[in-house]
Amino acid sequence: MNQKVTVVGTGRMGSALATALFKKGFATTVWNRTASKTEPLARLGLRTAESVLGAVSEADVVIVNVNDYNSIFQLLRHPEIESALRSRILVQLTSGTPDEAREMESWARQCGISYLDGAIWSSPQAIGTPECTAILYSGSQELFDRVKPILMAFGENARFVGNQIGQASALDIAVLAGFAISAMFGFLQGYIICEAENIPVETYMQFVKRVAPGLKGVLQTYAKLQEKDYAGDQASLAAWSAAPKCLIDWGREHGMDHSIADAQLSLFEKAIKAGKGQADFAYLYEILRRGAG
Ligand code: NAP
Repeated sequence: MNQKVTVVGTGRMGSALATALFKKGFATTVWNRTASKTEPLARLGLRTAESVLGAVSEADVVIVNVNDYNSIFQLLRHPEIESALRSRILVQLTSGTPDEAREMESWARQCGISYLDGAIWSSPQAIGTPECTAILYSGSQELFDRVKPILMAFGENARFVGNQIGQASALDIAVLAGFAISAMFGFLQGYIICEAENIPVETYMQFVKRVAPGLKGVLQTYAKLQEKDYAGDQASLAAWSAAPKCLIDWGREHGMDHSIADAQLSLFEKAIKAGKGQADFAYLYEILRRGAG
């Protein structure tokens, strides 16, 4: 508990991280490019630093949370900061790709910095509460175990994904980009349609809530992928493809953006063209995996 922590970057998420640390009793210092954003934290009692070097020098553990990895490099790739970080632990919590995480780890290793990479699966308001879904980490298990008491300030669900450094980012984009964002776009499109067709928002919400538990069926796709069994007797790809077609038609008629449905339909059409119109939805795995080629 007597460890000192610095948070570099106090945007929406960084502020939440710093506040959670402070509330758990860690001596917490913050630095932000736009200094005014640290003022609410200073009023709470957190220390503010005037430079990145000053902030890093205050801490045993440095947590970075800015908009992207390029900004982190701009902030930290200076000989005096690299030297200060050498005797400290750097925990990186900015979202990015596995390749960016590996590049940063390679830089950290060359500089002799102990480095852990993470990805946040939570909204700022849930940080430090039981509502924090998860924060994913990858890299050295030994380092993770060492800093875990600090990381637990953000929520009980500090998850070590694996010892390959990009794995936290990979799991993050797999579930966030591939799943959660698709569902959220779907929610907005449905809302627009109901609004335009005079369906009360309560009716829409009730139906979404009724349908949502049925999405567990998505997980059944796993078994099909394991077996490479694309036969199915519930709904064929040809039948599924009618859904994006309807969305495109509706979007054209009512001026709604239908680019997501366009992309979905093009994937269905590739599968149908390959003679798989009667296959199960799971066959699209083969189409996605193959990429543009
Ligand atoms: P934000 O409120 O826009 O804050 C961005 C932060 O990055 C600010 O502190 C900003 O500093 C800093 N920054 C941007 N460019 C910089 C530069 N060139 N040099 C130094 N600092 C720079 O964004 P956020 O929501 O806190 O998100 C931060 C990270 O958390 C992102 O990687 C995001 O994907 C991740 N995340 C966010 C959420 C969420 O719900 N918000 C959830 C999961 C993960 P200034 O104040 O000076 O602009």
